[in-house]
Amino acid sequence: MKPYSHQKIEKKWQKEWEKSGIYKAKDFSKKPKWYSLIEFPYPSGAGLHVGHIRSFTAMDIISRKRRMEGYNVLYPIGWDAFGLPTENYAIKTGIDPRVATKKNTDNFRRQLKGLGFSFDWSREINTTDPNYYKWTQWIFLQFFKKGLAYKAEIPINWCPKDKIGLANEEVIGGKCERCGTPVVQKLKSQWLLKITAYAEKLLAGLKTVDFLPEIKLQQTNWIGKSEGSEIDFLIKNTSLKIKVFTTRPDTLFGATYVVLSPEHYLIQELKNQIQNWEEIKNYLNQAFHKTEEERLKEEKEKTGVELKGVKAINPANEKEIPVWVADYVLSTYGTGAIMAVPAHDKRDYDFAKKFNLPVIKVIDNGQKEKLYEGAGKLINSGKFNGIESEKAKWEITQFVNGKKTIKYHLRDWVFSRQRYWGEPIPIIICEKCGYVPVPEKELPVLLPKIKNYRPRDDGESPLASISSWVNVKCPKCGGKAKRETDVMPNWAGSSLYFLRYTDPHNNKSFAHFKKLKY
Ligand SMILES: [Zn+2]
Ligand SMILES: [Zn+2]
Repeated sequence: MKPYSHQKIEKKWQKEWEKSGIYKAKDFSKKPKWYSLIEFPYPSGAGLHVGHIRSFTAMDIISRKRRMEGYNVLYPIGWDAFGLPTENYAIKTGIDPRVATKKNTDNFRRQLKGLGFSFDWSREINTTDPNYYKWTQWIFLQFFKKGLAYKAEIPINWCPKDKIGLANEEVIGGKCERCGTPVVQKLKSQWLLKITAYAEKLLAGLKTVDFLPEIKLQQTNWIGKSEGSEIDFLIKNTSLKIKVFTTRPDTLFGATYVVLSPEHYLIQELKNQIQNWEEIKNYLNQAFHKTEEERLKEEKEKTGVELKGVKAINPANEKEIPVWVADYVLSTYGTGAIMAVPAHDKRDYDFAKKFNLPVIKVIDNGQKEKLYEGAGKLINSGKFNGIESEKAKWEITQFVNGKKTIKYHLRDWVFSRQRYWGEPIPIIICEKCGYVPVPEKELPVLLPKIKNYRPRDDGESPLASISSWVNVKCPKCGGKAKRETDVMPNWAGSSLYFLRYTDPHNNKSFAHFKKLKY
């Protein structure tokens, strides 16, 4: 018997498959349809890893079975090719990311074909291909026109030595992961996508999908809906008010102090009244060097400083209570200020114990120990004594002229990167007209070639250095204007690939509506 030569035989059949196109999905086929979707790979310089092969093989088996069962199967493949590894490689070697990407995708394609996956190669897409990112930019413009993409100043982690914004994951113990320099918080104008407008829709949608329960819980917590009240605490001898958000207005009579986030604007306004300003200033400086994650760590001992000379009035019982600043309160959640009820909140309880602050129990649980986070009948709450806490929430809110409100943990998505290897954001900045979208017929805004891929010393994208690209005429008024030089994050192109596969060569629209229904 002749030995089985897999090299010869596999090559022969792979060529045959390619010639006959048996793995091509047909548009508008009469057969029942099946869409096998894998996460498209990032084409790294190292080639495929075993994790790719594992998941692609599983889906390949399903796809082949479905074909044999008579389905029209769409099993496409493409490349999620923008992003940092290729860009860092370009910074190090000076090699154009286009060249590196071509080399890497050629290698991936060769490896995948050699493995004999039944992909429909006629639909291959690449997020860095201008014919593809034209539509990534087009979608951004639709968001912009609907007010769902906007620019705002937000604090970012900033390494003063590397002159670069860092993700929370790149900050270790308050220091830059690359060089060890203490990280500072810096305000930076960034593009954001308004995903918070979809918080309710996302929550409702979670009920209809068959995700694992723990994934659903994670997502629900990430959206983090909380219903509560906004309540004003007057600052003694001023007309200033501290607005707090609380999910437990029923415990208002037990609020024995108020805590401001270090970023809270009132701290600066009260500067002349604060007797220990030096101490406060030092504390703020420390806090501004910490990331949000570090500030929120459960196991971390709570820190804080009292604003000496400042008192707030508890609106429920007119009692004077101290005002503190502490970094476990975030400026970005709620109103950036909280009322502390140590008898009924673990965090407030720990803080009160540490700093010897009074603890007043206002909900009865029939037990002696002071901390109790559950519901029950009110005590020590004036005319509300004896009322069930759930009912008291709204009554007490009304009593102090508070407002019922809903807050989310979910934030808008920071969609700007001051980098090179990404889709240029198709916006023109005109002194007269503001942010003007690039006319759709001028898309794609091509990513220009460049010599130095490194972000600039002022933290701007290296694109800002190409004046011939940056300086343009305003499409609206014809006056002098500049291109936006931020690029999109690497998640941009990978948010729409599964739709584009249905009509990958369409140059007139993102995808034909009928094909999108695959
Ligand atoms: Zn650094
Ligand atoms: Zn203009």
